[in-house]
Parts: sequence; structure tokens; C-alpha cells
Amino acid sequence: MARKFNFSAGPAMLPTAVMERAQQEMLDWNGSGMSVMEMSHRGKEYMSIATKAEKDLREVMKIPDNYKVLFLQGGASAQFAMVPLNLLGDKQSADYINTGIWSKKAIAEAKRYCSVNIVADTSDNGFTTVPTQAELKLNPDAAYVHYTPNETIGGVEFDYIPETGDVPLVADMSSTILSRPIDVSKFGVIYAGSQKNIGPAGLAIVIIREDLLGKASESTPAMFNYKTHADNGSMYNTPATYSWYMAGLVFEWLKEQGGLTAMGALNKRKADKLYTVIDNSDFYANPVSTHARSWMNVTFTLADPGLDTSFLAGAAERELITLKGHRSVGGMRASIYNAMPEAGVDALVAFMREFESNQA
Ligand SMILES: *Cc1c(COP(=O)(O)O)cnc(C)c1O
Repeated sequence: MARKFNFSAGPAMLPTAVMERAQQEMLDWNGSGMSVMEMSHRGKEYMSIATKAEKDLREVMKIPDNYKVLFLQGGASAQFAMVPLNLLGDKQSADYINTGIWSKKAIAEAKRYCSVNIVADTSDNGFTTVPTQAELKLNPDAAYVHYTPNETIGGVEFDYIPETGDVPLVADMSSTILSRPIDVSKFGVIYAGSQKNIGPAGLAIVIIREDLLGKASESTPAMFNYKTHADNGSMYNTPATYSWYMAGLVFEWLKEQGGLTAMGALNKRKADKLYTVIDNSDFYANPVSTHARSWMNVTFTLADPGLDTSFLAGAAERELITLKGHRSVGGMRASIYNAMPEAGVDALVAFMREFESNQA
């Protein structure tokens, strides 16, 4: 078996132990004589899988009891519409922080439903930093404040949770959820697509404070109403059963790793190793302000972009794959989510040093 170190931004690596477990259980889950893929979502076997996954996620993230956890479909992108559809209530506007490409997509979608106030925008400096709390021009009348704690493409991450007073804070945590402990009680809604740090694609997790349910207008499609899913245990229709099961295995794996405190320490160390090589070199560069550098998506450029192709080829020879940066940013991007072993980062660091010294 040849597993490569896959630095893809998403879908991304999953823990090998999780996939081995899924492989063992593939044809016969726990003596049921069925694959999880073949089970009725309302049967007792699947219900036990779904319930345990939620319980483990609640435990790992320390989710308070007054929050619902929803297992939905449509990825994070469906949430760009579901957030305004469900949270506007009788308000006319929402505040959005614009820190990059994913923020922009959320903003474009929200504009279909309300007037969007951009309360901070870092496009002037090419999305290479995050605004400070003092720079946020928040509106007390906003229905909510939306931000993207980690911009997956730019490799820019908030190093603080914005303070929004009584206005609910909404976070697209797709690429940073589960990377370290966070205080869920600071948020009205947290949502994330699954394919970065949760499990296979096909699932979106929404963590919503209960008092924010039930504000959607009558015309909101049932499938786009959080209350529909909250009232039906995310089984109003057939959920993404297999992805939900796999996410549950990942949550169990996280507990075995020591939970999010241990994960956070490991993730910080992994990121620091890469930024150290970049900063100690005249050959590699990363434009992001030090305090706003992502722990999950490390972007870097080579002094001569003409060498990008040979860098990628050399990396691939060493089993280090999918390092090409997003087409809008160029250069390289190493996505190092929870499932990327430290050995993968070490191998990349060694290759970067070697490649640089070969240019001298
Ligand atoms: C990947 C990503 C998305 C899009 O997720 P889909 O599940 O493909 O809709 C949205 N926001 C962020 C921050 C992402 O990283």
C-alpha cells in the first residue's frame, strides 16, 4: 500500500486508522450483516451510529447544551444562502467581514436576500491579513455578523474571535473546525463543509444556538430551514449516511489523539515548521502578516515562478502531492489539516531545503 502525503485543500487526507476501520466494517457493520451504506437511516443500527457521532462531536468541541448540531447536505456553499434565509428574521441587513475568496462568495449569496454591510475589507492589501477588532465597523441593527475564520485559498486566519455584542456571530469554519479548541458559546452559528477536517465530502455540519431557530420566512424551502432539520434530528429526508458515519469515526479518532488541545498543539507545531523554512530563506516567501498566518493552509511562492513546475515534479517524486496553489493566488499551498501526519510536514520541509540548495 502506497499512501502519499497529500496536501490537497479539499477533499483532503483522512486519518489512515479511520479508513482502515471503515474498510474492516465495510461489508458487515458490527454483526449487522450490512454495510453502513445499505442501512435504513431510521433503523436502530444507523441511529446508533448517528447518535454516537453527534455525542462525540459535542464532547470533542465542548458544545453547550443550548446548541443544536445539524448534519446537512449541500456543502458549506448551501450555508451561504441558509444563513441569511434563517437568521434575518425581520431585519434588513447583515454585517460581513471580507477577508478573501470564501468571504466574497458568502457575501455574493447574502446579497440576494438582504443589504450587506462590509464591515471590514482586506482586499486593499491583497487579502494578506485580518482586520483588528477596532477596525470592524459593526452595526448594532445587523441581523448577524458573518466571517471566515480561515480563508482556505489565501492561507489567512483570524487569531481572535470577533466581539459582536448582542449580534449573533456566524462563522464559516470549513477549513479550521476541529483544528484546536474554540469557545462555541461565542458563536450564534458555526458551519463547515466536511471535506477538509471532518470526513468525506457530502456533509455540512451546522452548530446553531437554539434561540436562532424558527426565524425563517414562510417561503423558505423546507430543506433550507434549519428548524426542519433541528426538529427531525437531521433526518427530515435521507441524510448523507456514509459521510456522517465516517465523520463519526473521525470524531472517535480525535478523542484517541487527545482531543482538540492535543490537536491544536500538533497543528501549531506543523505550521511553525513550514513558516520557519519560508522565513529563513530568500528563496521562499509568504505574504501573510505573521499573526494572521493559517495553521491549516500554508501558502508560499518561489523566488522564480519559472521553477514552480520542477518544484512540483520533485515533490511528487518524494510522494508529496497536490502542492500547487489555487489558480487565483499562484505559487504553492500546503494544506495540513488534522489528518496530515507530522512526518508529511517533515518530508516537505526536507524537500524544500534540498530544492532551495540545488538552486544556489
Ligand atoms: C471549501 C470551503 C467552502 C466550500 O465548501 P463546499 O463544501 O464545497 O461548498 C466554503 N468555505 C470555506 C472556508 C472553504 O474552505
